[in-house]
Amino acid sequence: MTKSKTVMVVDDSVTIRKIMQRELSKADYEVILAKNGMEAMAILEWADPYPDLITLDIDMPKMNGFELCERIRAGGTSENERKNDLSQIPIIFVSANDNIDNRERGYELEVIDFIGKPFAPGKLVSTIDNILNSQEQFADMSALIVEDSPFIRRIIRKVLERHGLTIYEVENGAEALEVIKQINFEIDIIITDYVMPGMSGEELCRTLRSLEALDQVPIFFISSIDTKDTVLGFFKVGANDYLPKPFIEEEFRARIVTHLRNRKYVKELEQLNNKLKYQADHDALTGLYNRGYFSRHIAPNFAHCSYNGEELGCILIDLDYFKNVNDNYGHSFGDLVLTKFAELLQVNRREGDIPARYGGEEFVLLLLDADLDDTVQIAEQIRKSAEGCIYNDGKTELQVTISMGVASLQQHLPETPDKLLTMADEALYKAKAGGRNRVEVYDPKS
Ligand code: GH3
Ligand code: MG
Ligand code: MG
Ligand code: MG
Repeated sequence: MTKSKTVMVVDDSVTIRKIMQRELSKADYEVILAKNGMEAMAILEWADPYPDLITLDIDMPKMNGFELCERIRAGGTSENERKNDLSQIPIIFVSANDNIDNRERGYELEVIDFIGKPFAPGKLVSTIDNILNSQEQFADMSALIVEDSPFIRRIIRKVLERHGLTIYEVENGAEALEVIKQINFEIDIIITDYVMPGMSGEELCRTLRSLEALDQVPIFFISSIDTKDTVLGFFKVGANDYLPKPFIEEEFRARIVTHLRNRKYVKELEQLNNKLKYQADHDALTGLYNRGYFSRHIAPNFAHCSYNGEELGCILIDLDYFKNVNDNYGHSFGDLVLTKFAELLQVNRREGDIPARYGGEEFVLLLLDADLDDTVQIAEQIRKSAEGCIYNDGKTELQVTISMGVASLQQHLPETPDKLLTMADEALYKAKAGGRNRVEVYDPKS
């Protein structure tokens, strides 16, 4: 069980204090009550630690909610570090006077949320839970804040920090583009002001949308200009959301969370998609391309080389007596041999050549721009390297040879890719029949 959090309730009505205390206690919050601003300040002077959150009534005799809020934000009279902590405490207003003017004043004082009185059962607790407990994390995501006012930057940063994001802050559009380039376009949300020196938010948004890497990244406008035309303009240049200033933190936060959730979902789908694509092209055991990939890629290469009279070599490889390896040392040792041999094949191939696992213990290598001599030479190199390889799992040490069949496009002139493979297969058969551990070249006469 985590230690329960403390909420300080400041309200002049004894009935409201009672209702709030009952609701909060039921939800396992520790509650400190104060009936006016003076009492609240006196309690805060000595409170250690400070409460995790303070709720303020607005209309109270002597010191109203705003004055009290100002004093808390100023940090009271305590020594420095404590003063700083006090000024950072999340504050919400619980008041019958939830109107625009009061919200605007609250915004200046970084009040996180407003709850109107009377409030529905559960409203108070769910609001405070949201602020203190349910911090959905987006730890591997990042945000860019483009805003010339340090005050608003700070509010935005605070909200994003609560969700674990990496945050970049800039003051104008030109800096934003600079940072985005520096971080290689890896950004998950952009929050931008409209009126800024130099490039406007609208111009920035248009520029960002023209970059392919950013066409899916949510762009969130915040602006004090909220005429219909301006707002429409934001969306026309590709904004995803807009909030007029002044806004309350909780509304901003709720919207940001929605965007980040969607973004996360889209990224997960992208990753899944990439994984499925990889799996569709690769053999799970060896990591080499699979037969499907090979078949899809031999055709265009074959067509290109045939048309242009270019060289194209093909080597078909089959491990010798591999059934015995399984039978004598077990299937998992057989798997180890296949995996190690695949690595050996990768090491020995040239850049641009296409290696694949063609079947169980059969492999294929397509060599671009290699004539018959080149192809035979590389095949021979692979054969030697396989012959010299000791497969070892700590218990068994084993040598496994390979047989290979070679065919060449310009030498043997097959009409189709399949024919090229058949020729290599016939040569492979000859290598097996001739005693294995050898390279044979297709010979139309035999
Ligand atoms: P040859 O020299 O004539 O090629 O003889 P061979 O024993 O290598 O040929 P055969 O085709 O009779 O046997 C191939 C064996 O490869 C049989 C099969 O169980 C095994 N095999 C196929 N795929 C896998 C695999 O993924 N893992 C393991 N361990 N064995 C495999
Ligand atoms: Mg501005
Ligand atoms: Mg074999
Ligand atoms: Mg075989």
